[in-house]
Amino acid sequence: MQAMTKTQLVIQIHETDNVAVAAQFLPQGVVLPCGVTVLEPIPQAHKVALTKIPAGSPVIRYGVNLGLANRDIPAGSWITETMLDVPESPGLDALSYGTNLVAAPQLPEPPVSTWMGYPNAEGPAGTRNLLGIITTVQCAAGVAEVVAERIRRELLPQYPNVEDVVVVRHAYGCGVAINAPLAEIPIRAVRNIIRHPNFGGQWILVGLGCEKLTYDRLLAPDEITPENCLTLQDWPGHEAMEQALMDLARRKLEILNRRQRQPLPLSALRIGLQCGGSDAFSGVTANPAAGYAADMLVRGGATVLFSETTEVRDGAPLLAARCISAEVRDKLVEQLRWYDAYLQAGGVDRDANPTPGNKKGGLANIVEKAMGSIAKSGSSPIVEVLEPAQQPSRRGLIFAATPASDIVCGPSQLASGIGLQVFMTGRGSPYGLDICPVIKVCSRNELKQRWFDMIDLSAGDIITGEKTIPQVGEELFRLILDTASGKKKPFSDQYHYHNDFCLFNPAPIT
Ligand code: CA
Repeated sequence: MQAMTKTQLVIQIHETDNVAVAAQFLPQGVVLPCGVTVLEPIPQAHKVALTKIPAGSPVIRYGVNLGLANRDIPAGSWITETMLDVPESPGLDALSYGTNLVAAPQLPEPPVSTWMGYPNAEGPAGTRNLLGIITTVQCAAGVAEVVAERIRRELLPQYPNVEDVVVVRHAYGCGVAINAPLAEIPIRAVRNIIRHPNFGGQWILVGLGCEKLTYDRLLAPDEITPENCLTLQDWPGHEAMEQALMDLARRKLEILNRRQRQPLPLSALRIGLQCGGSDAFSGVTANPAAGYAADMLVRGGATVLFSETTEVRDGAPLLAARCISAEVRDKLVEQLRWYDAYLQAGGVDRDANPTPGNKKGGLANIVEKAMGSIAKSGSSPIVEVLEPAQQPSRRGLIFAATPASDIVCGPSQLASGIGLQVFMTGRGSPYGLDICPVIKVCSRNELKQRWFDMIDLSAGDIITGEKTIPQVGEELFRLILDTASGKKKPFSDQYHYHNDFCLFNPAPIT
């Protein structure tokens, strides 16, 4: 990237780019450093043509063809999303693997090598100490919430080491084709969320009693006990079921209250990354900074998940080159192909992803969005590829296939056991999760100024040249460790901005 100054007008990323992004609002008539005069007012984050782009020739940003111009575009014009046609997505046959493997010593060294977490007998450590009440079906959610409120009020004050009670309420469980092959995805999400590291093995499963998602689909036979599972239809009325749940909760809280934070190596930490409400700066500031923090974590032995299948599809060759084996590459291709078919069955393709907000933020199409989105994965080798809501079997950088939808990606990564999520945004979102903390990183300072009490960190100083990507990346790395250690509470947790457990269900509903 070219050096930037505070008064920088545009950002050109690659020397072959024939467009640049407006670093600030560009009035008509302003002359850019390259000598081109801006022909019309151009909003911040939107693209300006640096040369004449004839109809049929590529619009290039990140050194990548974003699409062919569908009309002649004079130098100095504002390039909007209607002016270019989306190219075909890259082929998935015979993608090379292992041709771009960055060795660990080349990754940035973490400045801190321990954090304070709740160790678990197996899997990653907890970042929070929570009592989990998991519903097997939405029908049980109302009772579970009422009891959780009473637990918070009457029991939690007696167990000061327990941070909260979380009800996992979701739309799955009944009225579904439970034996459909794809039903494994939502079932696995519920099965794995029960084992979330922040619940420390102390959870209550609340069922109704007539639903299709029966306990045996979620638990081992020896786990199906009256101490773990409560079936509402077995109890005579509200008072009885509420009291039974309170009694179960008390027993679990006794055990949870003995959990203590301990100094742990980075290898005990598993986090997730996603972006939402992205703009054209996301790929220049917030996502590369997150990628830098991810590289530090991976070098230190931690596990980092990145996801959002439609947003990596156009970078398939780049990601395949970072896969450590043919097996990992094949799994990546399998997941991308599956999603292509899933979208096709719905009559669309990956360009159905960008939102009106993305476009307002200067992102023309999915190719441009994808190039920014994959920057969050940093440069580490990809050691494993997961199906939606699967648990990793390795440590390091992992592609966990999920929809890009913020509210679906979050729960899917939670089911994969993340103890913290970093969320990059350009347009702004109050998004948050109740099972793990979410750190909000914005791509430009204007958003941090407006949402000063909602955004945890701004990467906008990278635009003005006041900070570098490594500087913001290290700042984010430290914020991740402090938050995972319970020393800092992100804004979303301070306000209890918590989204529902919107699990991914591509299977039929009956
Ligand atoms: Ca997203």
